[in-house]
Amino acid sequence: MAQEFWNRAENKPLLEAVSQGKEVIWINERLTSTEEAMSQIQLTMADIDDAEARLARFAPFIQKVFPETAPRNGLIESPLTEIPKMQKKLEEEYQTSIPGRLFLKQDSHLAISGSIKARGGIYEVLKHAEDLALEYGKIKVTDDYSVFASDEFKKFFSQFKIQVGSTGNLGMSIGIMSAALGFHVIVHMSADAKQWKKDLLRQRGAEVVEYADDYSKAVEVGRKNSDADPKSYFVDDENSVTLFLGYAVAAKRIRAQFEEKGIIVDADHPLFVYIPCGVGGAPGGVTFGLKQIFGDNAHVFFIEPTQAPCMLVGMASGLQNEVSVQDFGLTGKTHADGLAVGRASGFVGSVMNHMLAGILSLEDYHIYDLMRDIVNTEDIFLEPSACASFWGPIQLKSKEMQSYIKKMGLEDKMANAVHIPWATGGSLVPQSIREEYMHTHLK
Ligand SMILES: *Cc1c(COP(=O)(O)O)cnc(C)c1O
Repeated sequence: MAQEFWNRAENKPLLEAVSQGKEVIWINERLTSTEEAMSQIQLTMADIDDAEARLARFAPFIQKVFPETAPRNGLIESPLTEIPKMQKKLEEEYQTSIPGRLFLKQDSHLAISGSIKARGGIYEVLKHAEDLALEYGKIKVTDDYSVFASDEFKKFFSQFKIQVGSTGNLGMSIGIMSAALGFHVIVHMSADAKQWKKDLLRQRGAEVVEYADDYSKAVEVGRKNSDADPKSYFVDDENSVTLFLGYAVAAKRIRAQFEEKGIIVDADHPLFVYIPCGVGGAPGGVTFGLKQIFGDNAHVFFIEPTQAPCMLVGMASGLQNEVSVQDFGLTGKTHADGLAVGRASGFVGSVMNHMLAGILSLEDYHIYDLMRDIVNTEDIFLEPSACASFWGPIQLKSKEMQSYIKKMGLEDKMANAVHIPWATGGSLVPQSIREEYMHTHLK
């Protein structure tokens, strides 16, 4: 890597191992109390409340256009499911123990687009639609938003464009919701994006542009094309505060689910959450929300592939988005297509600076093994990227995680812990692709 970067990088021994493609566990030495972390950032609980209220305004529209959301009255929310058989399987298979209870947050089964992007991606499209409708005097915030489903509104939105660069799932969320509102939507897809995602999007009325290059290129071209057109809006996955807040609403929803299930989170009952990370927006937004609500009792870890650990190299080196995984001699290529990102969001990295507990990396072959495990034990299908989340509980007994637990004074509280691998996608994966995945063995 460039000498200049190397000279300024923190954690050189760890980064040395990262650059050799090894699995590592980085514990964030800049983690502070939540209060102190929050005092250094501009966003607050009021911003999350605002996003939640906007989603509630749009619920009548969503329920009308996407009838599958009717059971939740137009809210897009996923089940929280206890997975004791998977817990036992992981303990046996990886010769470890996972003290406490294991629950799966099934964003894989979110309505409309079957991934965590149904939170932030859809939220940003709705916010843009609302902004336009307000600007052109077509609605008041007190109106019934089911009018957004009318032909008149569709015709109005058809004069505007929405564009986005994506490895797949973000494009699906933006594409499906934009097309449903009547926008002309263009999704710039990186080479990693799966064919079935492109096919599904085209079928829903989105324009798909394909790139031979990676995610950064798709974003760069998408942004340039959009900026040149005054009637076009670009969804900026790397810097969007709107996307981020859409994800953060998840924390308020999970708090309600904890209450329903009688799950306690407090100083004696720690909450451990493990979220697969790509550019950082989705896991960062969820983490921000969880820390707002559960404060120091929430311990959040990101998981990344060994060849694309972009948030890990940025945060551990302290150089954030100045550095890419390629700077460390890594390929950026991974079977975890939702995580195939070479450079993390600088915005998210800075918000996570004093808030994130750490980041773990894993080799690609594990994700298929874990995918088979969750199908075989709990009969839940997840896409390979989402299965990276199980790496957190598996590594609880590692010396790094144990030192974190000790530092936090949680050694005698782990039996009361709740662990949540955040399953970020999967329910829309077609049957033929599922079978292909089920037979994929990389090792
Ligand atoms: C997008 C995505 C992630 C990570 O989200 P980022 O905002 O890119 O960090 C994780 N898993 C799946 C399945 C995804 O689609």
